Amino acid sequence: MSECVFCKIANKEISSEIIYEDNQTIAFKDINPRAPIHFLIIPKKHIPSVDHLKTEDKALIGELILVAQKIAREKNLKGYKLIINVGRAGGQLIDHLHLHLLSGKPMKLP
Ligand code: 5GP
Ligand code: ZN
Repeated sequence: MSECVFCKIANKEISSEIIYEDNQTIAFKDINPRAPIHFLIIPKKHIPSVDHLKTEDKALIGELILVAQKIAREKNLKGYKLIINVGRAGGQLIDHLHLHLLSGKPMKLP
C-alpha cells in the first residue's frame, strides 16, 4: 500500500474536501491555505514531480491545467495563480505532483 499522502487522498484513505474528480485527476482544498482560495489539483497516478514526467504523461499534465480552468470557471474566479513546486529547493514538500490554484487576493511572484 502506498505511503504517499496524496495517493491516500486520491484513494479516499485520507479525507479531504474534494472539489472536483474525474478518472485521471482529483482536486481538493489545501489543508493550510495561503490564499482565500487554495486548491490542489493532482493526477491520480503517482508521479513524484515535474522532474519525473515522461513523454507519455504529456496529456495528463495538460489535463491538470484544464481542470484548473474548469474549476476557476465554475467558481467564477476573476483571476488565479497556478504554481507547481519542484524538488525541495523548489519548495516541494509532498512528493506527488500537484498544481496549486490560488485566488482571492492580489498575488505577486515571490
Ligand atoms: P508543496 O509545498 O509540496 O508544493 O505543497 C504541498 C501542499 O499540500 C501544502 O500547501 C500543504 O498545506 C498541503 N497538504 C499537505 N498535507 C495535506 C493533507 O493531508 N491534506 C490536504 N488537503 N493538504 C495537504
Ligand atoms: Zn502519490
